[in-house]
Amino acid sequence: MSLVVAKFGGTSVADYDAMGRSADIVLANAATRIVVVSASSGVTNLLVELTQATINDERRLQLLKQIAQIQYQIVDELGRPQEIIAVLDKLLSRMAVLSEMLVLNRSKAVMDELLSLGEQCSSALFAAVLREKGAIASAFDVRRVLRTDSHFGRAEPQIEAIACLAHEHLQPFLQDQIIVTQGFIGADDEGRTTTLGRGGSDYSAALLAEALKASAVEIWTDVAGIYTTDPRLAPNARPIAEISFNEAAEMATFGAKVLHPATILPAVRQQIQVFVGSSKEPQKGGTWIRHQVEDAPVYRAVALRRDQTLLNLHSLQMLHAQGFLAETFATLARHKISVDLITTSEVNVALTLDKTGSDSSGHGLLSEALLQELSQHCRVRVEDKLALVAIIGNRIATTPGVCRRVFEVLEPHNVRMICQGASPHNLCVLVAESEAAQVVAALHQNLFEGA
Ligand code: ADP
Ligand code: ASP
Ligand code: MG
Repeated sequence: MSLVVAKFGGTSVADYDAMGRSADIVLANAATRIVVVSASSGVTNLLVELTQATINDERRLQLLKQIAQIQYQIVDELGRPQEIIAVLDKLLSRMAVLSEMLVLNRSKAVMDELLSLGEQCSSALFAAVLREKGAIASAFDVRRVLRTDSHFGRAEPQIEAIACLAHEHLQPFLQDQIIVTQGFIGADDEGRTTTLGRGGSDYSAALLAEALKASAVEIWTDVAGIYTTDPRLAPNARPIAEISFNEAAEMATFGAKVLHPATILPAVRQQIQVFVGSSKEPQKGGTWIRHQVEDAPVYRAVALRRDQTLLNLHSLQMLHAQGFLAETFATLARHKISVDLITTSEVNVALTLDKTGSDSSGHGLLSEALLQELSQHCRVRVEDKLALVAIIGNRIATTPGVCRRVFEVLEPHNVRMICQGASPHNLCVLVAESEAAQVVAALHQNLFEGA
């Protein structure tokens, strides 16, 4: 039996109508047996605010009320089924208890437990919407199968354990019913709730598809596929019908929010096709991400990653010496920071840190402890308010004229760093955050909107 895993993002489960449209998409394909949902739109942001140290009691109660309103509105339209009201009541009172616990104890484990409640609410509601439409569907606690390490806020999935657990606890039930489960969350060996980082539901869907050897993963969102750039930044951006795993992975890595950066990994490992489409306008079609594609243009897309930090490390030790980079990277690794872009000169290393690599509750990567450790062997300068713009495509490093075209567009802007050459698929420039949208629009116009 071919199996499809369908994931619905926040806007696709925002309210009763959105859930209804998404349920119709599930029911239109008999192969869709696993549905992965995000929290209803806005709920995770509200939960993240609840985890912040700075909120007072009044704001805390306000946030809890706002979340309750979003979720109860859906139950109201469902005709207030008692069993769903009971589930929601339990989840929402747990939310209140955990948010209060955080006032006394700022534990990352408690934060993850709290953040997980958005997806727990939406999955219970979505299963009820499917049942209202006559389907046999139940909500399933993904923590029974999505095993991770204990790195709260940004947990690493344990692929083999997930495959075994999914085989045991999910596979046998797929024949008879549609399983609705949570994206974004998992559990460690001790059963404690973890989260995969913001936007992680895409990744969850791909991990479950890999574990169950699904034939396709569908990512249903608020845009009809992957576009040549974020359509919010360039109104003339156009959807891409088909794109390779490599290109899509580069796009996701470099900030195309439409896919969580890790989503493509499980799909590549099992050669599972990924579809991206709009749950509001499914008739518009979308983008297929495949291993092999017919078209491999030099310019495929422009991506933008905001909120970048540039670390400039200066040390005379670097001069004609060995080991400085090794020492620097070892320090970064100890602080669980993966090096992003890097350039070096005789006595300087510049590297970018990506805030999107921060954890689910928005904690940045640049801790005091890290800065202190680095300062022991070099002088550290930190620059903020930067954004990374990436031109994604094929044969970028070996096609003459690419740099000329890109630099023509960049002429009026100060480029803080350039990375090109390591990958055939991208050319990246670091610019001021305040100019980033303009740079993306200008690059898009020059590379994609010409005759
Ligand atoms: P969901 O809640 O469904 O996961 P997201 O907000 O995470 O949705 O991702 C969808 C958004 O990604 C779009 O609304 C769009 O603004 C943004 N986006 C960024 N880059 C691209 C791109 N290249 N193509 C399409 N959408 C993009
Ligand atoms: N709800 C989580 C978030 O907003 C996960 C997701 O939507 O993918 O980050
Ligand atoms: Mg998303």
